[in-house]
Amino acid sequence: MKAARAFIALGANLGDARATVTQAIHSLGQLPGITVMKQSSLYRSAPVDASGPDFINAVAEVTTTLNPQALLVALQALEQDAGRQRPYRNAPRTLDLDILLYGEVTLDSPTLTIPHPRMFTRAFVLLPLAEIAPEHVTAAQLQAVSQQAIERVGILP
Ligand code: AMP
Repeated sequence: MKAARAFIALGANLGDARATVTQAIHSLGQLPGITVMKQSSLYRSAPVDASGPDFINAVAEVTTTLNPQALLVALQALEQDAGRQRPYRNAPRTLDLDILLYGEVTLDSPTLTIPHPRMFTRAFVLLPLAEIAPEHVTAAQLQAVSQQAIERVGILP
């Protein structure tokens, strides 16, 4: 299968969220059929539709030979992994991975909607996406989320 270009949003807000997101991008690149081409800086954002501590977010551009559904399954396995890794007893950590865009594909199935239905209402997706793929984000879309609290906190190692 020809490789497709896809964008993945990463978010974590429990435990060492920076380490979780950094590790997840590394793990993403280790998966068969996935190559990480670009990664955004890390951002810190206040929870939207969620509670708890601030989130650490990033967006990665990948090329992949997996179809969208297989990519989702691979991402869900990484989410499970992050939930299982406990650096110390009862250490909390969650990882959320979303497919934002997959080539030119539009899809609306019970398990997968592409483009991601909420990506354009969330600063924590649009800012990192605009950093690595400005052609996918308009000024008006950025303006629409400009009231949401978010700051760039660093570059991934
Ligand atoms: P959550 O982890 O709460 O964000 O939701 C995950 C659920 O959203 C999964 O069961 C997926 O089947 C579904 N889903 C629908 N569209 C997408 C997408 N573009 N990326 C990731 N998950 C998606």
